[in-house]
Amino acid sequence: MGFKQYYFKEEHELFRKSLRDYLEKEVVPYVDEWEKAGELPPEIWKKFGDMGYFGLTLPEKYGGSGLDFWYDVVYIEELSRCGSAGFAAAVTAHPYLSLSHLHHSGSEYLKEKYLRPGIAGDIHGGLAITEPFTGSDVAGVLTTAVRDGDHYIINGSKCFITNGVYADYLVVTCKTNPEAKSGGISLIVVDMDTPGISTHKLDKLGWKASDTGEIAFDNVRVPVENLVGEENKGFYYIMQRFELERLTLAIASNSASEYMLEYALNYMSERKAFGRPINKFQVLRHRVAQMSAEIASTTAFTYDVCKMYSEGVYCVKEASMSKLLSTELADKVAYQCLQFLGGYGYMEDYKMARAFRDTRLGTIGGGTSEIMREIISKMIIDDVSYQRSDKQNTHKEYTVEDIISTLPERFKAEKATNTQLTLHFIFTNKDYSVLIKDGQLEIKEGQVGEADCLVETDDQTYIQMETGQLNPQQAFMSGKVKVSDLGKMMEFGKLVRKLEN
Ligand SMILES: Cc1cc2nc3c(=O)[nH]c(=O)nc-3n(C[C@H](O)[C@H](O)[C@H](O)COP(=O)(O)OP(=O)(O)OC[C@H]3O[C@@H](n4cnc5c(N)ncnc54)[C@H](O)[C@@H]3O)c2cc1C
Repeated sequence: MGFKQYYFKEEHELFRKSLRDYLEKEVVPYVDEWEKAGELPPEIWKKFGDMGYFGLTLPEKYGGSGLDFWYDVVYIEELSRCGSAGFAAAVTAHPYLSLSHLHHSGSEYLKEKYLRPGIAGDIHGGLAITEPFTGSDVAGVLTTAVRDGDHYIINGSKCFITNGVYADYLVVTCKTNPEAKSGGISLIVVDMDTPGISTHKLDKLGWKASDTGEIAFDNVRVPVENLVGEENKGFYYIMQRFELERLTLAIASNSASEYMLEYALNYMSERKAFGRPINKFQVLRHRVAQMSAEIASTTAFTYDVCKMYSEGVYCVKEASMSKLLSTELADKVAYQCLQFLGGYGYMEDYKMARAFRDTRLGTIGGGTSEIMREIISKMIIDDVSYQRSDKQNTHKEYTVEDIISTLPERFKAEKATNTQLTLHFIFTNKDYSVLIKDGQLEIKEGQVGEADCLVETDDQTYIQMETGQLNPQQAFMSGKVKVSDLGKMMEFGKLVRKLEN
């Protein structure tokens, strides 16, 4: 158990045992068959739903179990030991890519129509962002949804979508305002039996048991009730959930690394060369030791990020780091472990060949390694901040009044000796004026004097920006904040320190 005992409690380990037993019985004996067929038996969704696996941490109100995030961690880890990452991908994409959006941003109507039956395993879904001409650049999606009375008309195409062929529904990113980049994207739930949809199953290097689809939308009519959250806020919702997507890939990769190493060690203890087991050759032993150390440290780091995530702490940077390190390590472990098996490693009869192919996806799916490095470097070099997760926030609950009242103490008076600036903040229910003159900052209720800059937003957005849950740049781009003079606003921004949560 080692360091893992510091993260998992007895109840998590009991769940692990029962889940492992279940998978050994219901999944492991059949994965070869499913890999060959390139699809899962449809009844597996209901079986998993009945076991409660799709709603471990989702609310009891919709049939979930309302458990803590460590149950999700156990679920993802154990799936990585089934011998088919394709299977694991299908039954994790449904809860963590599609249900999570419905849970966090869906209306009551969507929750009843898709979340509840999704948790029960009566239906299953996926998330369709990637398109033939854009993947990493999420804001560049070309699929459009144009309002026509009570419907959206969707046109465009998606590709590489997990569960994209056999899913009952997909949560689809569409441009609802083609002029705007990230601020023009919406999430819309699309029933896959709607006229105008055609799908094509893609042939892949690995992940064979999962259906990865290319989907064309030709004048597909979808009721406006199927909009997730608010129109044009889809990019924001996607960014919020990326934390979870990256963590699931990191957890899965670490567990896969452990599994591959265990598998190779077992082989190495039995295989003999030059009259002794190959696990006695020092060069191989040292490679094992090195990988074992790397897997342990990457796993421990990922668990720390899981802890942050489960406690509602902002962890975009750490989740991206974790995904980067864990998926690249799994790639290396797969390569080395296959080498340990010699010629048998290359044979389909041995599990390493499939693991080698399956692992390759880790550094590509859910944001490539290059994109992870891009995000991390922006955060540590350019001080960029992405949105916080909106769930279980441990931050103090603020009101607009609370935050506005902290401005004088956050004011960098030493930098404002020659500044004269008046800003009017127009919030949902109340307006404030912030007057800066002679190195002093004064706050007045209402709109007092002539403003150099008008800042118009709702209370929630302002609180989220000030507490670091929402990136101000994205808030401007998505139209959540309107600023009459961006230059003056930036000048003001430089004169106040960040709020300490
Ligand atoms: C099996 C499988 C399952 C998938 N499942 C889903 C799914 O369920 N839903 C979904 O929406 N998508 C899914 N994807 C798509 C996946 O998320 C994308 O493939 C991935 O994000 C990369 O996008 P792309 O393929 O368009 O590559 P591109 O964006 O075209 O990138 C090509 C190369 O250029 C590099 N690159 C791009 N931009 C930069 C940059 N700024 N700096 C440096 N390098 C850069 C990339 O890292 C990559 O190496 C899946 C893919 C696969 C293969």
